[in-house]
Amino acid sequence: MSDTPAPAAITMDAIVALAKRRGFIFQSSEIYGGFNGFFDYGPLGAELKKNIRDCWWDDMVRRRDDVVGLESSIIMHPKVWEASGHVAGFTDPLVDCKVSKQRYRADQLFFAAVVVDGKTAGYVSALESEKTAAELQAAAELFKRKKALQGTLSPIVAKDMTEAQPDEIALIPSPATGEPGSLTPPRSFNMMFQTNVGAMTDASAVAYLRPETAQGMFVDFKNVVDTGRVKLPFGIAQIGKSFRNEITPRNFIFRSREFEQMEMEYFIHEDADWAKCHEEWIAWCEAWLKSIGLPASHLSRYTHPKEKLAFYSRGTVDIMFSYPFGVQELWGIAARGNYDLTQHATASGKPQEIFDEATKKKFVPHVIEPAVGVDRILLAVLCAGYAEEEVKDEKGAVEKRTVLRFSPRIAPVKVAILPLLKNKPELVAIAQKLHAKLKRKYAVFYDEAGAIGRRYRRQDEIGTPWCVTIDFDTIEKPGETFTLRERDSMSQRRITEAELFALLEEHVY
Ligand code: ATP
Repeated sequence: MSDTPAPAAITMDAIVALAKRRGFIFQSSEIYGGFNGFFDYGPLGAELKKNIRDCWWDDMVRRRDDVVGLESSIIMHPKVWEASGHVAGFTDPLVDCKVSKQRYRADQLFFAAVVVDGKTAGYVSALESEKTAAELQAAAELFKRKKALQGTLSPIVAKDMTEAQPDEIALIPSPATGEPGSLTPPRSFNMMFQTNVGAMTDASAVAYLRPETAQGMFVDFKNVVDTGRVKLPFGIAQIGKSFRNEITPRNFIFRSREFEQMEMEYFIHEDADWAKCHEEWIAWCEAWLKSIGLPASHLSRYTHPKEKLAFYSRGTVDIMFSYPFGVQELWGIAARGNYDLTQHATASGKPQEIFDEATKKKFVPHVIEPAVGVDRILLAVLCAGYAEEEVKDEKGAVEKRTVLRFSPRIAPVKVAILPLLKNKPELVAIAQKLHAKLKRKYAVFYDEAGAIGRRYRRQDEIGTPWCVTIDFDTIEKPGETFTLRERDSMSQRRITEAELFALLEEHVY
């Protein structure tokens, strides 16, 4: 991927279709009709996801001297989630439609009063999208026409259901039925999945699937400090599955019920300049996203307003990505003070302090937390990398090519090895030898079936940065060279085996 923006008109339909067609992402349990909010990663998707995880782990943990890794259990003591505040407060506001049985997140269900000549004549509603305001305006105009109301319609003022007054709720139409009267007032819905541990099924056996990986780092903080020879400032990082019973999973893998997070808790001295450290981590995250090929043009920042922050939070900045369905949160970087460690110290009765040699005092470290979803990154690289182009084939005829411009760092296949003809044993033997050598270190693909142009297109569509063709020049000319064909420029040049390894060494790290 280069720094140039992807063509504007990429649709989610095209991304979802390619993801299915080429084995990146499938619906979970598809043969049983799918399971809303759950997805499977096929052969190429699993490789792509692993590469994203590996790049993050290498850059975040192995290549830094101040961050160590952790793998904590998914099901933890239920008291963890009481202390962290998740049992009481990890909720989304839920609105039910009593007629259709549909459920909506109240902050994603919008409504507006239809005001004619200064008087409210009724209400319209629409679900959150890039077009919510336009849809509400159109609905208000239709309402006025249908009711044959005379007078001037005021421009609509969109609000979400968390802002609805009690007397308005009965008048707001359900998006499912179009009729008012069936929506309930918003109520809190806890998003943690519950399970029972052990043979009992009573309240004492209730446990939760973790809704974030972060608590593992807090609960094991003392273990890492006591065993890891770490010194402030330092971080603990973890990659793993998280589970949230999202009311409205949507936008493909953007918001699902089972997803994977890469989180890091960076512990700092209580007197450290947290704002500087926060900014450094935001910049690190942005640079990392660019290093795996996301174009700067698709990235932006959103600073959470002070009045919307949790009481303990000092500041949160989200790195946003321009998805086809709008600009949305990709990576949240939060300055959380010492809230989490203090909560666990109080709840467990085990101090979570560090001794300061300089002042001879104990204190609870503060923390900066960059938290990102692997699936959201994967969707971002699919969307930013996807392009449909018109190109000329070998005979000069114009044809369409679909290409995924993945960075070589994360591309599921780094190189395709293609003998020009499969019935020429000399070509095939060299190709197979090269394939065997390369695959010890890199994900490579061997393909001898079909016209060479078609084989190039197949690789373009799965984002393979380079194809290597073993052709007659390889055997006839001295120096054993191959044709190297580049995905993005489609240019071709000759390359030796040593040069090919050097190229991979430079770009795949
Ligand atoms: P959102 O506001 O989109 O629900 P959040 O602010 O609740 O996200 P965090 O709790 O900060 O998210 O989680 C950290 C990261 O985990 C998010 O930035 C996102 O990349 C990822 N994430 C959170 N919820 C989901 C989900 N349901 N599906 C996929 N990824 C998710």
